[in-house]
Amino acid sequence: MPSCELCGASGDIVRALVESVEVRVCVSCARYGKVLSSPFPSPAVHPQKLAKHAASEPLQVIVPDFAARIKSSREKLGLSQEGFARLLNEKKTIIHSLEIGKVAPSMPLARKLERLLKIKIIEDYQESSAPQIQNTSSFTLGDFIRVKKA
Ligand SMILES: [Zn+2]
Repeated sequence: MPSCELCGASGDIVRALVESVEVRVCVSCARYGKVLSSPFPSPAVHPQKLAKHAASEPLQVIVPDFAARIKSSREKLGLSQEGFARLLNEKKTIIHSLEIGKVAPSMPLARKLERLLKIKIIEDYQESSAPQIQNTSSFTLGDFIRVKKA
């Protein structure tokens, strides 16, 4: 962040001639001299802000024990894997793979599962548990697609 060479204030800085010397000063100090340019652009501030903002967006992940949660909730509802698959409009093999933890559900499927089973299997991404969950979801997404095609 540029700051005023006369008073040290930061903010909108302009180039101005003060007593024949070119200085970068704030708008109020610029009154004492001759302004050479309109507010000094501060490059890199905006892209940085944007990047920071994107990084702090809450990222959602599937909980590690989704398989157990899905299976026990389905059983509580008295549904077979087949019946449950029909309700979800998915193949029975998908349900089976989910319940043995072979694949993680995609986000849309996970939301459907949450609604249907009244469970929580999506959670906000936590830095501390990053490596494990990251690997799980990137591995299982491709795996999930393969299973779906089969
Ligand atoms: Zn100033």
